[in-house]
Amino acid sequence: MSETFKLTIKGTVQGVGFRPFIYTLAKKYNLKGTISNNSNGVEILINLTNIKDFIFSIEKNLPSLAKINSIEIENINYIEFKDFKIIDTKNMGDIKSNIPPDISICKECEKELFNLNNRRYGYPFITCTNCGVRYSIIYDLPYDRAKTSMKKFKMCKACEAEYNNPLNRRYHAQPIGCWDCGANLSLWDKNKKLIINNEKLIDNVVTLIKEGHILAIKGVGGYHLVCDANNKKAIQKLRDRKKRPAKPFAIMVKDIEMAKELVYINQKEKELLISKEKPIVLLKAKKIDKDIAPNISKLGIFLPYTPLHLLILKELNSPLVATSANITDEPIATTTDDIKKLSNIYDYLVDNNRDIVNGCDDSVVMVIRNQTIFIRRARGYTPISIELPYKLDKKVLAVGANQKNTIAIGFDNKVILSPHIGDLDGIKSIEYFKDNIENLKRIYRFKPEIVVYDRHPNYESSKYAKSLDIEGKEIQHHYAHILGVMAEKGLTKKVLGVAFDGTGYGDNGKLWGGEFLICNYKGYKRVAYIKYFKLLGGAKAIKEPKRVALSLLFDIYGENALNLDNPTIKAFTLKELKTQYLMWKKGLNSPLTSSMGRLFDAIASLTDICQVMSFEGESGIRMEEYYNKDIKEFYSFNFIDNQIDISPIIENIVQEKNKVVAISKFFNTLVEIIFTIYKEHNLPLVLSGGVFQNRVLLELILDKIPTAIINNQIPPNDGGISLGQVVSTLSIKKS
Ligand code: ZN
Ligand code: ZN
Ligand code: FE
Repeated sequence: MSETFKLTIKGTVQGVGFRPFIYTLAKKYNLKGTISNNSNGVEILINLTNIKDFIFSIEKNLPSLAKINSIEIENINYIEFKDFKIIDTKNMGDIKSNIPPDISICKECEKELFNLNNRRYGYPFITCTNCGVRYSIIYDLPYDRAKTSMKKFKMCKACEAEYNNPLNRRYHAQPIGCWDCGANLSLWDKNKKLIINNEKLIDNVVTLIKEGHILAIKGVGGYHLVCDANNKKAIQKLRDRKKRPAKPFAIMVKDIEMAKELVYINQKEKELLISKEKPIVLLKAKKIDKDIAPNISKLGIFLPYTPLHLLILKELNSPLVATSANITDEPIATTTDDIKKLSNIYDYLVDNNRDIVNGCDDSVVMVIRNQTIFIRRARGYTPISIELPYKLDKKVLAVGANQKNTIAIGFDNKVILSPHIGDLDGIKSIEYFKDNIENLKRIYRFKPEIVVYDRHPNYESSKYAKSLDIEGKEIQHHYAHILGVMAEKGLTKKVLGVAFDGTGYGDNGKLWGGEFLICNYKGYKRVAYIKYFKLLGGAKAIKEPKRVALSLLFDIYGENALNLDNPTIKAFTLKELKTQYLMWKKGLNSPLTSSMGRLFDAIASLTDICQVMSFEGESGIRMEEYYNKDIKEFYSFNFIDNQIDISPIIENIVQEKNKVVAISKFFNTLVEIIFTIYKEHNLPLVLSGGVFQNRVLLELILDKIPTAIINNQIPPNDGGISLGQVVSTLSIKKS
């Protein structure tokens, strides 16, 4: 006996081929009823004899982009249906459905792309309901072609027929088009002269790459700068023009086989590489490539994620350097105007006429002890919501930190994170930051009731938050780091949080960064921290490890440090040393800090691995190269009240002439410090802060304390601050 059921399905179920999927399923089993989108997701009314079987086939055959968060089933009064129908979208007043992220081309589209008999053969924007751009082209919800940057392309008859056929893979696929009606590519030289804009374009592009030119290529969420990864001269040219002397470049390879020639890949890493999100994955290099990643045995590898990338890589058949196109301190270039400002960097431009509405960088991840660690969360993952195990009391806007900024909005039990916005150091970046807030507010019809910001008075994000005319809440940086982990893991009980990072503004006005905090949602207690040292030279010290090391030497040896036979001392002239000593003595431009990131820098200087950094995080990443796991010893350290006195470590390292021994023992010592404090408090151990992106450190801790918890959905670096800020508004009374 058939009954009528009403199913309310929530999650990522719009714009992902969900309705045609249910339609096809219903047709297959000759079921009758309706399906429609509504503000909560989709609603199905259907006559069934066995609801369990039906739910089972939905869950088993779910379209690749769809994600179900919940299914509510209601047995309602019997309705007589003649057939199964997709009905028009209901009122979308209060948007709760998720916007699908931009994902990579699917297998079926890839097959068609290379099929000579297909009408979209070689079409660089081929897509369907299971793949392609979404977030980056959306102006507003409901997700409909008229509210995307596809609105200017009028579909041809053939495309329209596919679009309107519920049994077609392109049914209501908003970004579809073809050679006759969709977006098209154009190739320009740097003087803005059009070279070509037809099917032959790919051959031209590949020839130019092979000739050693630098090309700017418009992708999904912005432009890339690319060149031949086997051409030293081209890479050097790109480094010179981009003023990026040593920072590693990411490499796009044709397929896994090509990746395997460059790097080692385990199962989990392979899954990430070929996933529909196609992030850049940091992998162990088979040999150090001194052009692409000088002094570092890691490479950032990703696979082609658009039809255009596939066409180029297949023809090129060798690795391609691909880096985000942006002016230093500015966000990724997303418009033709933006990219033209970079014409001093590229030789040729591959542009297209599909506008990027929401900019989005490539995501960057790595795998440590089988856990995914995000370095940057953006394309493919944005704006997937992070589900909280509890409901938020208010609608929250969180504006994040100042570096690696992301912003977040929170409502009900959801947090939507913006893509990686970047460092808020310039006017353009601050504008981009504000745009991201406005975009999320508009798309989600979101009106914040409270804004949360970092305590740091000089953060641009905090200044912006304070300018808003709503309730504000200030939150300490490292506490937010730990709350971020608690939020994504649904932890509600007290934890011991270890926040190791560069620097964050402390409650006492000092620059914190080596913190042990006992946290719950009500607040935190600082139970231990690295004993303060002087950040000699202030902001300069952040880029020059030798200044931090010198400061630590002065702390121990006073003026006698000048006589030490040590790489740090040798990195200065005698005159500089004398000035620095006076500054240290008087405490001029020398704020006090407990930063673990700066301590890493100091060790890198003392062991002569890095005196001046050419990119952020260089010292730590290069120290990884010197770790020897057969060295088990560690240095002694002292606790003075709740301060961790590191001077014995420094003294020992000054005596040690073998840098492998020094570095290995240093890493072991950090693990020992964490373990000692962990034992003392016997609470769940939570790790966060950019320092935990150090592979050696994180591996060692996870080996020693396998229950340690770290971020897996958001970056442990400042990109994760906004999530922590959101949940700081909770009034959970449990502890
Ligand atoms: Zn597809
Ligand atoms: Zn068409
Ligand atoms: Fe931080």
